[in-house]
Amino acid sequence: MYIKTKKNIGEVEKNRILEFLKNNKLGSLVIEDEETLKIGVLGDRSKVDMDRLLSFHGVDELVVIGKSYKFVSREFQKQDTVIEIKGRKIGGGNFMLMAGPCAIENRESVFQIAEQVKKSGAQILRGGAFKPRTSPYDFQGLGEEGLKYMREAADKYDLLVVTEVMDSMDIPLISKYADILQVGARNMQNFSLLKMLGSCGKPVLLKRGLSATIRDFLMAAEYLMAYGNREIILCERGIRTFETMTRNTVDINAIPLIKEKSHLPIIIDASHGTGRRSLVEPVTLAGVIAGADGAMVEVHENPECAVSDGVQSLDFKGFKKLTENLEEVLQLKKRLK
Ligand code: PEP
Ligand code: MN
Repeated sequence: MYIKTKKNIGEVEKNRILEFLKNNKLGSLVIEDEETLKIGVLGDRSKVDMDRLLSFHGVDELVVIGKSYKFVSREFQKQDTVIEIKGRKIGGGNFMLMAGPCAIENRESVFQIAEQVKKSGAQILRGGAFKPRTSPYDFQGLGEEGLKYMREAADKYDLLVVTEVMDSMDIPLISKYADILQVGARNMQNFSLLKMLGSCGKPVLLKRGLSATIRDFLMAAEYLMAYGNREIILCERGIRTFETMTRNTVDINAIPLIKEKSHLPIIIDASHGTGRRSLVEPVTLAGVIAGADGAMVEVHENPECAVSDGVQSLDFKGFKKLTENLEEVLQLKKRLK
C-alpha cells in the first residue's frame, strides 16, 4: 500500500503521516512522483487501522498495489530510478559498463585489466574475491587480499568496484572495499542475505537466479526494497534451459519486460549468459538494443590461462572492439523512436 498525498503537502503534514507509521511499527518509502508525494507503507499493517490516515491533512487516498512486487513496480514509481555512485549514474538513459576478470587472481593481473578496461571506456571494475564455485575443489577466491588489490587498481584508474557478497557475514568487510555489492545468481533467493543487504547502505547488483522467473526476480528485488535499499541494479545473466550448446540462455524478453514492469535499471551479462567468448559481443549489443541500462563483461589479460571462466572472457582486443561497437549501438539507440 502507498499513501497518495495532495499536491504541495507541507513538511508538517508529511511528518505527521510518517510519525503515524512509525508509531505503528511500520516503515516508509517516500517518493515524489508526477508532482505528488507517495509514501509506501512497509511491514505488517494487518493490525493497524490504516483508514485513520484518511482524516489526516494532505492525505488524498490509500492505494493498494495489485501486484505481488510493489515498490519495485512502475505502479508505485513511474519514472526510472537513477542511481548515482561517486558522480557516475545508471538508469534513466545513463549507461554503465562494468568489466573485469571472473575472479581476482593476483595483484599484477587486476592492475593490468583495470588499466585496459578503463582505456576502452568501462566505468566499473568487476571481479570476484569470494567466488561461488560449483565444485568445492575449485579456486574459491582470494578473499580480503583480492578486495584490496581490486580497490587499489580501481582507485588508480578511476573506476568503481563491484564484487560479489556470498554470505551476510561478509557484508561489513566487502563494504569497506566495494562501491556496489553483487548478489550472485545462486543467491538470488537467499532471503536472509537480501534482508541484510536492505540496510547495507550500498547499491546492490542483483543477478537473476538460474531458474528464476521474471516474477521471482522482481520479488527478490522487492525484498531489498522492503528492507530499506532503493539502489538496486538488476542483471539478466541468462537462465538454464534445455539448450546445451551455450552455458545459459539469455532471456532478452526479460529486459524490455522488466523495463515495463519496474522502474529499476537492468543490465545485461552476456559472459555468464552465453558462456562462449564469440557470443559475448553480439548478445551484449542485443541486450543494449532491447533496453539494458548497462552491461557486464568478463575480461582477462590471457583468457586461456584464466583461473575461472576463461572460455567466456574477452581479451583486451576483443573488449576494445566490443566497446567501439557498443558506442555505435548507443548512438543508434538514441535515434530509435
Ligand atoms: C559473477 O558475476 O562472478 C558470477 C558468478 O555470476 P553469476 O552469479 O551470474 O553466475
Ligand atoms: Mn565468472
